[in-house]
Amino acid sequence: MKIEQRAAVYPGSFDPVTRGHLDIIMRGSRLFDKLVVAVLENPEKTPVLAERERVDLIARAVEGNPRVEVRSFRGLVARLAAELGAGWILRGLRSEADLAAEMPMAISNRLAGGRTVETVFLPTRPELSFISSRLVRDIARHGGDLAPFVTPPVAKSLRKALRGGGAPS
Ligand code: ADP
Repeated sequence: MKIEQRAAVYPGSFDPVTRGHLDIIMRGSRLFDKLVVAVLENPEKTPVLAERERVDLIARAVEGNPRVEVRSFRGLVARLAAELGAGWILRGLRSEADLAAEMPMAISNRLAGGRTVETVFLPTRPELSFISSRLVRDIARHGGDLAPFVTPPVAKSLRKALRGGGAPS
């Protein structure tokens, strides 16, 4: 029997990557042979951290996990999945509000991807369910303790970017 490689894409803005995201990456990497973390370059949004930095911070955090790869992308996640030969899109769920927002995306990604890509949801760990990138950015702007939410390198980069008045795009 030939066992095919099962690859998934985990897309997001990751501005910045949080302990909640890292938990989904770690757990997701056990479900698939390859998990590609895909950092969205969205021309309509101005991120705090530049795309290169968001990619590097995730890469540093997942170093040593051979199943995880990190890259940036633009455009449709369904197209990226097709290009990579990935059959799944991985997303994390923190709440019913997340689910409501995720459902139309999951359905349209399936339709836009020629029905070859399925979305898989992983529930957050309860102790990480309150963490969002937006909350982390707000806490960083007001000088709060970031340790419960992000790794030390992420906290450092975020503070630096905010001191400098934002990321170069
Ligand atoms: P987006 O900009 O697409 O909302 P994010 O970078 O905020 O992307 O998040 C990417 C994915 O990670 C989403 O599926 C989101 O629901 C999930 N996620 C974010 N924070 C957490 C968390 N604390 N626990 C579990 N999943 C999370």
